[in-house]
Amino acid sequence: MAHLQLKKLVKRYPNGFEAVHGIDLDVQDGEFMVLVGPSGCAKSTTLRMVAGLETITGGEVRIGERVVNTLAPGRRGIAMVFQNYALYPHMKVKNNLSFGLRLAGRPKDEITAATAEVAEILEIESLLERLPKELSGGQAQRVALGRALIKKPEVFLFDEPLSNLDAKLRASMRVRITDLHRRLKEEGRPATVIYVTHDQTEAMTMGDRICVMKDGHIMQVADPVTLYDKP
Ligand code: ADP
Ligand code: ADP
Repeated sequence: MAHLQLKKLVKRYPNGFEAVHGIDLDVQDGEFMVLVGPSGCAKSTTLRMVAGLETITGGEVRIGERVVNTLAPGRRGIAMVFQNYALYPHMKVKNNLSFGLRLAGRPKDEITAATAEVAEILEIESLLERLPKELSGGQAQRVALGRALIKKPEVFLFDEPLSNLDAKLRASMRVRITDLHRRLKEEGRPATVIYVTHDQTEAMTMGDRICVMKDGHIMQVADPVTLYDKP
């Protein structure tokens, strides 16, 4: 179970600039929470504090019952998907997918089975022998998603994962990610998600709830209908 809680979370950068001013946010187990707001409102800073890629100045991040403030990223039970895919260029797709598990020293048969499973879910079986440079943007982003998924994380963090794709690919990836989220829930391994975007369509179509940020504050947290269907 991965109920995610931000409590009075503060970020002050070394230059003295306070980017996040004590925000509170509860993301329920299995919930898909979208963070939206204009560029510079601290979406990414917030996400990176949850991931452990940025130190926390004040307050706390809880995953389940654990305060994870000082835990290394690899120990938080999270997986992250970035805008720029961040695939290893010299590794075949299958090795990009399995890298984390190989690093963790998992048994070979488990790794093979897990690689096959995520390849099937994301429909990238035919791409396993290719190098990243031989993939389209949408294919590369599916591999990046697979690399996160293979860890079976309880928490998924997305930072503008579709921003580099064209409109058509964005639309199909939106559906793919929400389908995947639903499928994990149906299989009894729900993933708690924070998804950062500046794209209103993504927020509206993907979020169970949407958290609107501005200047390092949270302005509103509501479901898409409540937020956008105002007269
Ligand atoms: P968003 O993801 O919403 O575009 P960011 O989290 O990237 O916003 O940035 C939030 C604010 O923090 C911005 O004003 C940005 O300029 C500032 N900021 C980001 N990184 C640093 C840093 N390393 N040092 C100082 N200020 C930073
Ligand atoms: P290489 O040929 O590049 O040395 P390996 O044969 O060592 O790669 O395989 C790399 C990883 O990918 C291994 O963990 C392996 O279990 C997995 N793997 C290889 N081929 C497949 C496949 N067809 N389906 C699923 N997993 C695979």
